[in-house]
Amino acid sequence: MENIVTIDSVCAYCGVGCDIAAHVDIKENKIKKIFAHPDGATSEGKLCVKGTYGYDFVDAKERINAPRIRKSFLEKNPHIKEVIATSLTELDNTWYESDLDSATTAGAMKLKDIQAKYGEKSVCSLGGARSSCESAYYFQKFTRFTLNSPHVDNCARVCHSPSLKGMRLTIGEGAASNPFDDIYKTEFMIVMGSNTTEAHPIVGNRMIKAAQNGTPIACFDVREIKLHKFSKYKAITPHESNLLVLNMIAYTIITEELYHKDFIKNRTKNFEHFKENILADPYANPEFFRDVAGYEYLADMLPEIAREYATKKSLILWGLGITEHVDGSYAVMAIVHLALMTGNIGKDGAGVMPLRGQTNVQGVCDMGMLPYYAPDYQAPKEVGLMTPQLVDGMLDGTIRGVLNIGEDLTHIHPNLNKLIKAFENLELIFVQELFMTDIAERADIVVGVKSAYEKTGIYINAMRKVHLSTPLVKSDLPDDWEVIKLLDEKMGGGYDFNSSEDIWEDVRKTATNRFSGASYKVLRDNEKAGISWPIKDDGTGTPVLHREDFRTQDGIGAFRYHGYTLSGMVEEIINKKLKGYHLTTGRIMAHYNNSAQTKYTEKLMKRHTEDLLLVHEDDAADFTSEKVILKTEYGETNPLTVKFTDKVRPKTLYTTFHHANSKLNHIFGDKSDELIMTAAFKSIQVEIVSA
Ligand code: SF4
Repeated sequence: MENIVTIDSVCAYCGVGCDIAAHVDIKENKIKKIFAHPDGATSEGKLCVKGTYGYDFVDAKERINAPRIRKSFLEKNPHIKEVIATSLTELDNTWYESDLDSATTAGAMKLKDIQAKYGEKSVCSLGGARSSCESAYYFQKFTRFTLNSPHVDNCARVCHSPSLKGMRLTIGEGAASNPFDDIYKTEFMIVMGSNTTEAHPIVGNRMIKAAQNGTPIACFDVREIKLHKFSKYKAITPHESNLLVLNMIAYTIITEELYHKDFIKNRTKNFEHFKENILADPYANPEFFRDVAGYEYLADMLPEIAREYATKKSLILWGLGITEHVDGSYAVMAIVHLALMTGNIGKDGAGVMPLRGQTNVQGVCDMGMLPYYAPDYQAPKEVGLMTPQLVDGMLDGTIRGVLNIGEDLTHIHPNLNKLIKAFENLELIFVQELFMTDIAERADIVVGVKSAYEKTGIYINAMRKVHLSTPLVKSDLPDDWEVIKLLDEKMGGGYDFNSSEDIWEDVRKTATNRFSGASYKVLRDNEKAGISWPIKDDGTGTPVLHREDFRTQDGIGAFRYHGYTLSGMVEEIINKKLKGYHLTTGRIMAHYNNSAQTKYTEKLMKRHTEDLLLVHEDDAADFTSEKVILKTEYGETNPLTVKFTDKVRPKTLYTTFHHANSKLNHIFGDKSDELIMTAAFKSIQVEIVSA
């Protein structure tokens, strides 16, 4: 036991950002156990299964150790091969192994060739939300200033970009207004489009505890989820009806004059316009549901929810069930409208909280890994393209090179047949990863990098808590930013960053609105309690936003009415033409996204080995084989095992998307959020084919 030390850090998975402690054998350089830090304010002494068991990946034999360069890439680029020839050793039929210096030399030479031939903007950088703030910051800086290309984006494109957009346009800040613990302070909670107990389990625990202590919850989903058991209002809604339902809640608040007149007068604008439009909206009266077969109860339930919400200190929390629709940004605005109308924002226990997905998706956006924002949400020198537009650029030949950090695009993005074809047009795919993920298998150059448990770096969770992580074990692999630094030097840039702290000091000087007081020392001193941004120069944070003013330019919150457009399943139901099956997708606790890390942990893999298709028992006649293929005009899945349940509605199907071999994202097309291009993953009509 004398070799075992305890090291504190932060969980490497979801946006809850639990405080962890680990027993590490320093002699073996091996994590022996991970558990909740006893004083951890976020974890409250408990971790979910991913946090507890999901560390075997660190030592997995499948880790990429030496950089790999595709043989066919070097055959097409003999001038590059000539320069790095002595570094190459044969790995297999596809790959050479090389060293970091040669791999980055090859990457930089090809970037130069591409930019000379097709222009500076023919390359783009796409970064995942598992990278630290420091790496994300340097990645966008290198791309914007050394490469001189405006094209940077991150995987928030396929998750919470509509939350950022909808909240920026109404209250000026695309982040949770309150800390998780306000779940204990609120008097009423609406949870919408979030299977919190699976996707954000430690926040889900708080919701359950609050409910058991008497806080009523209104839980909205298209299927029955665990949280419904603890909810006063079990609202199961048709696919694609979020905006409809939210405008209906606003309608009751307006018609029953439950709104907060002083708050509206002093803190907001455009309410009268919003009110007139809601009253004139043909789909805003909850009575609409009175005739919608199977959903009649919502005509009475929605006004009851509206009354409780408006007359109590209330929170609204949401997940991707809100954002991954064509009207995702508008639904987010509709959520904010409810808070603005009732004054349920800017105080303890009342606010709006998007439950952001990955460990650092908040931070990567804060660092400016977005085509339309520089760090701190300032204006960039030039607006770049969003990922779906970049894919079109790959197809038409304007985009020729992709730099990628840990975002498995060819697994997690929609319309994969199109995306894969687009990738075939590229002349350079340079990937920094832990494992040979789907995108790595398609890359020209793959550099293995440190995992979250092997490096120092800042991660910002879904309540804006800025956490400086400590490495649990040592690794000789480079951190992401060290690979970028080599590329940067070889491309003629050469920022003088020699540690993650150097980069963070640059962040603090650039992103002064949020991070000026967030030195490494301040973060270390407040590690357990945590500090939420904005962090002032004296090191104090801001757990609750919008207390006095909104973070818009004029400090005023804005209503922006958008009417519901009758579509999808709702239209089919009211026209009594519901024939097809609608699929929705979601997460399960044992895995994270493309399972890049969790699939290398046996204890997690054995809990969930495949993406099962949940089907209502009444639909059994259409599912006569054990496995079915789902098909759309865009493509088809691999055979999925059918499981009958009463937890989904008839004609509603549900599956997870964790396993690349399901080929689930092949069936989604380009249908996406109208403002911000986030894929409409939460609802698609599918054809069933027996496998
Ligand atoms: Fe990790 Fe999220 Fe689970 Fe907490 S809830 S242990 S952050 S995966």
